[in-house]
Amino acid sequence: MARTYKRVLLKLSGEALLGEQGHGIDGDVLSKYAKEIKSIQEQGIQVAIVIGGGNIFRGVKGATEGMDRVQGDYMGMLATMINSMALQDALERSGVQTRLMSAIRMEAIAEPYIRRRAVRHLEKGRVVIFGAGTGNPYFTTDTAGSLRAIEIEAEVILKGTRVNGIFDSDPEKNPDAKKFDTITGDEVLKRRLSVMDLTAFTLCRENETPIIVFNMNNEGALKRIVVEGSDEGTTVIWD
Ligand code: UDP
Repeated sequence: MARTYKRVLLKLSGEALLGEQGHGIDGDVLSKYAKEIKSIQEQGIQVAIVIGGGNIFRGVKGATEGMDRVQGDYMGMLATMINSMALQDALERSGVQTRLMSAIRMEAIAEPYIRRRAVRHLEKGRVVIFGAGTGNPYFTTDTAGSLRAIEIEAEVILKGTRVNGIFDSDPEKNPDAKKFDTITGDEVLKRRLSVMDLTAFTLCRENETPIIVFNMNNEGALKRIVVEGSDEGTTVIWD
């Protein structure tokens, strides 16, 4: 019997929110994501979410254009707050109770991140969104996802992407790319497959947190994986 989960951390990229648009947030994508998330929350799964900010701003891009890197990174973190608020709104509109916690204090719109409080919210069935990344420059939202997953003792990180899992080459470029159902962390490193940045990946490795990469745009995939134990994504395991 495949493994199912009770407490998960879902990592979504900011870029996915673009949908068909060139910039900003596509309302249809947001509603679809809210529906997917609700479908597991309704089953009693405790759900925490980290969402990126790449659709709005990336610190590295600012730096290449001459901006101070740290300034740019803080702007990137604020971008994740905008996405987090949009996702919070979509979830609440579909009847899901949520709490938004920010790694940078902004009391008027989000609670400060306090680990024990986050866990309490999860136990009460609220979907918890972690905004503003780690609160530190030079990190990514993948790293924020790994860090928060470990802190709240999530059993798995679910990385929602636009491809079906981890492949031996880029499936968007190579039609013959082969998907792995499971792969060891060492194999990911040996083959230099890009699952997460190394800081994020190393955190998972040190804490043996499994990662599942799956296609967030496949309707029902999230529920099939978390509730039914489907192997339609790729699970990274540590041995
Ligand atoms: N960022 C940061 N510290 C963090 C998380 C994010 O400085 O802990 C900044 C960084 O500039 C990054 C931007 O926020 O480029 C947006 O996050 P990311 O690129 O990870 O978003 P995604 O690619 O997932 O949309």
